[in-house]
Amino acid sequence: MSSTLHFLVIPLMCPGHLIPMAEMAKLLAQHSAVSVTVVITPRNTQRYGAVLHRAIASGLPIKLLQLRFPASDHGLPEGCESIDDLPTFDLSKNFFAACAALQKPLEDVFHELQPTPCCIISDKHLPWTAEVAKKFQIPWVIFDGQNCFSQLTTHNLCVSKILEKLTDSDPFILPGLPDKISMTKSQLPLLFSSGNSEFVKERRIAHERIRERELGAYGTLINTFEDLERRYVDQFTKIKQGKVWCIGPSSNSNKNDLDRAQRGTKNSIDNELMKWLDSQHERSVIYASFGSLTRLTPLQFNELALGLEDSQFPFILVVKGGSRTEQIEQWLDESGFESRVKGRGVLIRGWAPQVLILSHRAVGAFLTHCGWNSTIEGVCAGVPMVTWPQFAEQFFNERLVVQVLGTGVGVGAQSVIDLGEADAAQIQVKRADVCRAVKMVMDEGKEGEERRIKAKYFKERAEKAMEEGGSSQLNLNRFIEDIRQHTSKGLIG
Ligand code: UDP
Repeated sequence: MSSTLHFLVIPLMCPGHLIPMAEMAKLLAQHSAVSVTVVITPRNTQRYGAVLHRAIASGLPIKLLQLRFPASDHGLPEGCESIDDLPTFDLSKNFFAACAALQKPLEDVFHELQPTPCCIISDKHLPWTAEVAKKFQIPWVIFDGQNCFSQLTTHNLCVSKILEKLTDSDPFILPGLPDKISMTKSQLPLLFSSGNSEFVKERRIAHERIRERELGAYGTLINTFEDLERRYVDQFTKIKQGKVWCIGPSSNSNKNDLDRAQRGTKNSIDNELMKWLDSQHERSVIYASFGSLTRLTPLQFNELALGLEDSQFPFILVVKGGSRTEQIEQWLDESGFESRVKGRGVLIRGWAPQVLILSHRAVGAFLTHCGWNSTIEGVCAGVPMVTWPQFAEQFFNERLVVQVLGTGVGVGAQSVIDLGEADAAQIQVKRADVCRAVKMVMDEGKEGEERRIKAKYFKERAEKAMEEGGSSQLNLNRFIEDIRQHTSKGLIG
């Protein structure tokens, strides 16, 4: 029997999930007597392969297990293998059904994987992977795309009855937290939504099932670090009887610019963009991006763009229009926006090398939708944030940044806009709100300075966590040791 521990990593195919799991695979594979197989599909190998293949070429024991993604069998366009490729989010159900169809092919090849995997690390949104783990009698560990603050809050809301008597707009204090944080029901993730559209109902049921399954996981790996949210880590770890390992921030594991640029894309570094950044003053540029999934309505996009223009700061704005691209482009064309901001504002259409941009000395603030990856990448860059949450647990992340860490200013978003529901929302935030929040974050006065000092402190703590002897490194060691002991007990028993 081999003494090498072989981890089977099964990511959800969506940038916000696949990117950190690929980074985690690299971190695991750096340990002696550990090997990793990442389950992936052909299109995603093309997209993320550059970074993974470079890691393999450098000698890390990582293998890719490529399974055919049955897109067309489930009513998806051929080649649509990632949630951000979906032509409309109404097709999410089809996408998850196609993911679940990978169970049988995976089980068929399981025993061909050498050495036999000792543990599945899966995204929690793939609950069928728990059945694979059960069948082969190995632990099912979830890699959770959320931080401890969000997970603890979700847990507390599930066990408390507080939401029962509330309307969508009644403010309430989140129960059981060490800080006093107010929210409304309309800002909560889908699991707690009272929305009635088919999309919301269907996704809510799916989330309830995921939650039930999640409760039976062996443990949880989390892309966060202890110094960022210590009291929340402690409380959540207690609830999970110790089986919580905070091993992030995973993005800090990228040690060169090519790896930073090619997360989520095979594009090479955009020299024009980097030259433009080089020409800007230190900490002067606002980087504005809404992650991989959010598609602002054209009207909302206009307000964002005009707010950035009004702020007078140089900016980079990432445009992801999806099916609305034509309307957004038409507005950009007819309004003269691009010529007005020429030299001061840069638009990136499509995929932005986010971590590379954020690490540039010219970036002074990050206007973010508060997806957890983006948020923690902002933390790692040491920049204050302008927060504009959209969906899922993003309002929790906003509260963490603005109220707990004290490194951000909100634009004043009032309610979740679920993917697939954005048309109903049209405009939530006006250009004046955007301009106000950007100016506050960039303010040279005492408050602005305090936010920058805190942001710098957390950047330094993030670096420490990932260093030799840092908390995240030690937690990854502890996790591997836990699985080693579990595996050897299993072998003896
Ligand atoms: N990302 C990127 N370039 C883009 C859009 C997204 O590099 O143009 C990366 C970003 O750095 C992050 C991930 O994709 O690592 C998005 O995850 P997040 O949790 O922030 O948001 P989501 O896309 O899941 O809403």
